[in-house]
Amino acid sequence: MNSIDRNHIWHPYASATRPLEQFEVISAQGVYLELANGAKIIDGMSSWWSVIHGYNHPRLNAAMHAQIEKFSHVMFGGLTHAPAIKLTETLLRIVPQNLQHVFYSDSGSVAVEVAMKMALQYQVAAKKPQKRHFATIRGGYHGDTWNAMSVCDPVTGMHSLFSNSLTCQFFVSRPQSTFHGAWQESDLNEVRELFKSKHKSIAAFIIEPIVQGAGGMYFYHPQFLRGIADLCKKYNILLIADEIATGFGRSGTLFACEHAAVQPDIMCIGKALTGGYMSFAATLCSSKIAHTISENPPYVFMHGPTFMANPLACALACESINLLLETSWQANVLRIERELQHLLQALETHAAVAQVRVLGAIGVVEMHEAVDMSRIQPLFVAHGVWLRPFGKLIYTMPPYCISSEELQTVILGMIRSIEEYCV
Ligand code: PMP
Repeated sequence: MNSIDRNHIWHPYASATRPLEQFEVISAQGVYLELANGAKIIDGMSSWWSVIHGYNHPRLNAAMHAQIEKFSHVMFGGLTHAPAIKLTETLLRIVPQNLQHVFYSDSGSVAVEVAMKMALQYQVAAKKPQKRHFATIRGGYHGDTWNAMSVCDPVTGMHSLFSNSLTCQFFVSRPQSTFHGAWQESDLNEVRELFKSKHKSIAAFIIEPIVQGAGGMYFYHPQFLRGIADLCKKYNILLIADEIATGFGRSGTLFACEHAAVQPDIMCIGKALTGGYMSFAATLCSSKIAHTISENPPYVFMHGPTFMANPLACALACESINLLLETSWQANVLRIERELQHLLQALETHAAVAQVRVLGAIGVVEMHEAVDMSRIQPLFVAHGVWLRPFGKLIYTMPPYCISSEELQTVILGMIRSIEEYCV
């Protein structure tokens, strides 16, 4: 392991003094990562949900090269550019129809901060300044920045560590009704009670539509989201859909809100927005929100990152969306879903496995016990696949362009690694 990396570089959710092994990547092509030790392994993670078209894609590379030749960045205050205009036009064609205003930022967490700020500024502008808290379900994940963290699951989000400084929000249980199971109306009881008693202090309800990602890899029933949307309307609470992980096809629909035919007031997108090539995100909102904020003091939305609407990222995102829409992404996601369902079945009866669940291009194996990353990660690599479990969850969400043969390698690598890990 490289000594500069080992001694000086801090990796995500890692110790600086006792880091786990890091695998150095020297090139990446299609679904493959080439490691410094010569191994070629298949990325079963799409680099944390983002690389949907695979690595080193000629069209994405060309889009970036073309924009670099023109200009890589200009400030967005007072200036605008064709990449931002084209991307916005493209986005407006595919997002829920009511979302008409787009605010660009640099990462998913920032997009969530922007969404929360938008909701609060809207409520102040709408003369409801006492609506200044957020509500959400347990088991969620919305990013690692301060306010995003305040709406992450209180346990896995490690609220206790920061409990003296983190804003206190309202949490309700996550729904028991699973995506494929029967709908239980009682899942909405806690939300009903909460809204009834506290609606005067709740600005918005923030939720990952259908798929809870990093907070638990859980797929819940669309009727829950529909119920939340209805209750939000009834109590004048804004609905923020965090589509950062689910956006651009991952759950089988372009946006996960579509499973429930829900149009959120505010929506966050990121990750796969640029095909996973660059950090970039956006927060979209309805005209009602944008106009209310803009027609009341201070008459502007108070946010403006240095790298807002970075032209390289905009040009790239536009090409990535075009590529997605031109390919048969839905058929690919469906094919991946069927193969995951079929092959992961083998683990359902394994003594160490609590549950196997699949939705779209997401396959999850929940173990009874948390896995030891230092032991299991090298096993995956030895089997030619890149997977990064957390807690009890071992999961894959491969690039949509993965072939059936490559997907088999990922799933069999997962199965064999689990078997070897458990002996
Ligand atoms: N929201 C969701 C649903 C996410 O999955 C993530 C990232 N895992 C974020 C927000 C934060 O995005 P970023 O890591 O780009 O800040």
